[in-house]
Amino acid sequence: MKTTSSTSPSLYIFANDLRINDNPLLNQAITQSAADNTDLVCLYCLQAWQFKPTGSLPAAMGTQRYAFLWQSLQALRHQLRRHGVTMIIQLGTMQNVVLKLHTNHRFKHIYHSQSAGFYERTAYLSLRDNMPEVMLHTDHITSLFKPNQLPFEISDLPKNFTPFRKQVAHLATQAPIITSTESVHLNMTARFNADDQWPQLPEASADIMTSDFMGGESAALAHCHEYFSGTAPSNYKSVRNQLMGWQNSTKFSPWLALGCLSPRQIMQDLSAYEAAHGANESTYWIYFELLWREFFYWNAIKQGAQLFMSKSGFDQPLHDMDLPQAFTHWTQGQIGEPLINACMRELNHTGYLSNRGRQIAASYLINELGVDWRLGAGYFERMLIDYDVASNWGNWQYIAGVGADPRGGRHFNIEKQQKTHDPKGQYIQQWAEVKSTHQNIYWHDLV
Ligand code: FAD
Repeated sequence: MKTTSSTSPSLYIFANDLRINDNPLLNQAITQSAADNTDLVCLYCLQAWQFKPTGSLPAAMGTQRYAFLWQSLQALRHQLRRHGVTMIIQLGTMQNVVLKLHTNHRFKHIYHSQSAGFYERTAYLSLRDNMPEVMLHTDHITSLFKPNQLPFEISDLPKNFTPFRKQVAHLATQAPIITSTESVHLNMTARFNADDQWPQLPEASADIMTSDFMGGESAALAHCHEYFSGTAPSNYKSVRNQLMGWQNSTKFSPWLALGCLSPRQIMQDLSAYEAAHGANESTYWIYFELLWREFFYWNAIKQGAQLFMSKSGFDQPLHDMDLPQAFTHWTQGQIGEPLINACMRELNHTGYLSNRGRQIAASYLINELGVDWRLGAGYFERMLIDYDVASNWGNWQYIAGVGADPRGGRHFNIEKQQKTHDPKGQYIQQWAEVKSTHQNIYWHDLV
């Protein structure tokens, strides 16, 4: 029978790795805690700043995005509870929350996965500097490869995608691991009243979600299984640029962004699919797109704070800007261009938009409306349920022609795009009557 230990507990801080399976760091935490006969407690910090408007900008966390995160946290919490592990959820910066918990509980080991985001990485370094007595463990568990597999230092990451792909595409992807939850100890439920730590969030219920996505690891694995059970992977390349449809692309991104699904798991399922049905250009292209994600991941680490800067690094902060009217109309899907309106209304309504829709909407804002691309990136950050710091800001930079692959940016001809991707106007028609509804979750709702 499991017993609660009285020695220093260990802490696992979840971030964008909201899963149990293929989570080598969690596995390490569990194994180490079992060997030391210590308790393991899990923590997730909701960053309070994300719910507060800053200057002229609304809060960074929109309702759809929050609802998907909330579902994913709920699912993980239930999963962990089945194994006797408590996950507490607190509001505040990670450093403050952890330091406060540490004062009371004196952790011996702390585990926290690596992020590509500059501010997340800074928070981790600050934790390390403030807690020299604690053994901190970290790892890259949301990327396909580890730094030591890459044939270059991160500081020497190629500027463009193609040379990056050529140097890494042949690398072996490790198989996903199965996390052993058997050995985990009953932990500090007596010391932490988990329900008290769960912020009251009435709005974040499933009915907010207007798309077919459901947060959490089980939903992610079920979706992955379903996608590879049909024939869609064999046609992926020919349909991936379509604006509409559930099977025109994999729809893995929301779960990848929160770490409910690992890219290694996708690779394993992709290999199994190819073994059963044969590999073709389309199945390779799924890997090709995952390599884009990988490129942006390492690129964000390489760029650090530069990822959020316009060009020179001496930009006016976004929240100090008066928002251009054209930008506001763009966000509302009320600009004089029906295709852009449809894209923005889909984004506002569902929290998701196809890759082609994102490219067209971003190009329009930058090139036709002449708005600072960072405002667009910030808006996508707020709205996308698959928001990922590296992919979002990296793609916006790419279209704006700054940062990675800066070959003068990408300018999409809207008329041509419509003729190619919506010749009968069905996509425009689908979203023509849908009004954007904006709900905000503010900080005062959370406390
Ligand atoms: P698929 O076409 O099925 O691709 C499979 C996977 O490959 C995706 O899940 C994703 O992980 C990866 N991938 C595909 N295209 C890209 C790409 N261009 N860059 C990086 N990874 C890619 N993706 C995010 O995950 N989060 C974001 O915040 C995000 N913001 C974006 C902003 C802009 C302006 C643009 C142009 C693209 C952005 N993307 C972002 C990339 C891409 O649009 C989405 O990953 C994709 O549309 C998600 O749908 P899917 O899972 O069906 O993709």
